[in-house]
Amino acid sequence: MSLQAQAKQLLDDLGVDPDRYTGGAMSSFSPVTGEQISALTPDSVETVADTIARAKAAFRVWRTIPAPKRGELVRLMGEELRASKEALGRLVSIEAGKSPSEGLGEVQEMIDICDFAVGLSRQLYGLTIATERPGHRMMETWHPLGVVGVISAFNFPVAVWSWNAALAFVCGNPVVWKPSEKTPLTALACQAILERALARFGAAPVGLSQVLIGGADVGNALVESHDVALVSATGSTRMGRIVGPKVAARFGRTILELGGNNAGIVCPSADLDMALRAVAFGAMGTAGQRCTTMRRLFVHDSVYDALVPRLIKAYESVSVGNPLETQALVGPLIDKQAFDAMQASLEAARAAGGTVHGGAREAVASNAAYYVRPALVEMPAQTGPVLEETFAPILYVMRYSDFDAVIEDHNAVGAGLSSSIFTLDMREMETFLSARGSDCGIANVNIGTSGAEIGGAFGGEKETGGGRESGSDAWKGYMRRATNTINFSRELPLAQGVVFDI
Ligand code: NAD
Repeated sequence: MSLQAQAKQLLDDLGVDPDRYTGGAMSSFSPVTGEQISALTPDSVETVADTIARAKAAFRVWRTIPAPKRGELVRLMGEELRASKEALGRLVSIEAGKSPSEGLGEVQEMIDICDFAVGLSRQLYGLTIATERPGHRMMETWHPLGVVGVISAFNFPVAVWSWNAALAFVCGNPVVWKPSEKTPLTALACQAILERALARFGAAPVGLSQVLIGGADVGNALVESHDVALVSATGSTRMGRIVGPKVAARFGRTILELGGNNAGIVCPSADLDMALRAVAFGAMGTAGQRCTTMRRLFVHDSVYDALVPRLIKAYESVSVGNPLETQALVGPLIDKQAFDAMQASLEAARAAGGTVHGGAREAVASNAAYYVRPALVEMPAQTGPVLEETFAPILYVMRYSDFDAVIEDHNAVGAGLSSSIFTLDMREMETFLSARGSDCGIANVNIGTSGAEIGGAFGGEKETGGGRESGSDAWKGYMRRATNTINFSRELPLAQGVVFDI
């Protein structure tokens, strides 16, 4: 069966109306074979305005429903996702080219965040704060914020929406989602799954969750709307540089989850077998198309020759292939543009004195699909393409001899998402995690840079945008805080002892 037919079958099973993805002018393709799998009708700037207006009306109702009741909707969402896990995971694999286990893993992440958000719906705590005035009480309360616009990237086509939506819903906000134009089908499927939860829930307002189909212009309409209180945008730093200032100019709020240039440091005491597996998965998994993919590796002189040749062997032997039909660990790049960007970076690395292992295109599936052997590049120094994220499986490997200097190098790039150190030395580990260590939002010890759990706050510093999503107290980004002072005395004492007698 063609991938188009397989996708149609899955979409039918998931309850998506075929009119949404057939007969339109916007094509989407499967990276697995390069074949077209849909022809959608994109939303216009006018339909975006109507969509936002519906969301705004939904907000007026949803914000008044008690948070634990809102949590019940998210509980049902988790149930529906469990029921649809196989089909949605498979659709992710077809549309984004992930292996079956990665496709299912992404849906599992959605289920996990629903579970987290259900508990959270009873824990949206504010503080009670000591006041200096007698007969007064001071507290803070957290209120729903408003319409949340979610703009997402192709590489986590469904999980990123759920991280935002599950939290936004329990926090009392409607969501308008503009998925990547490269992965619209999985977004339509998520909406259909959620609609089943909404039908069972019964009391949710129309417009609580909506999907907009289109490219940057449709995303921009969300970004510029004064009725979108929060824009949560996941994608390249290039996109964030445009979106961030536009939302700031209207004093809107953003959660920016942008590019990464994540590094690992392998120290003299490292467990090299463990480091080898962690680096191999972190750098080659998902064909290097995770925001947390390991892209730079600093290896201490004393262990370089024991580790790097083994790593090169792993690069030479890792299975590259059709993720739907083989057990291959490395699937396709998303498209030709990604392949060209990878080749350009490898060329720049060679020009900067790098020795490139791998990186060539492999004949898999069809001419329209882009499979590559992952590339490991031994670099004399951290220069040229090493300083930028190329969204492809390239790992730049560099030697180091001085621990303080390697921390400096580690931090000397624009992005600040994820990082890891491999060491059994307590001083190195704690230094890496300390204020003078890694400057990233995620800093790991003896595991790779990718594969975060939903319980922690996810996001990064500097050119990664500073946003936090998912666990910990990331929910605060989806609510507004009010400080309330209540006077239950018969006096009116002013703060700081100010006298104002009239
Ligand atoms: P991209 O920036 O090309 O597109 C991301 C989304 O932004 C798409 O929906 C796109 O339509 C939209 N968009 C682009 N320009 C826009 C504009 N001017 N206004 C409004 N919307 C706009 O990214 P991509 O190629 O889909 O994804 C890969 C990138 O995403 C990588 O840089 C990766 O590191 C990053 N990413 C980051 C995270 C994270 O959590 N930090 C997670 C996943 C991916």
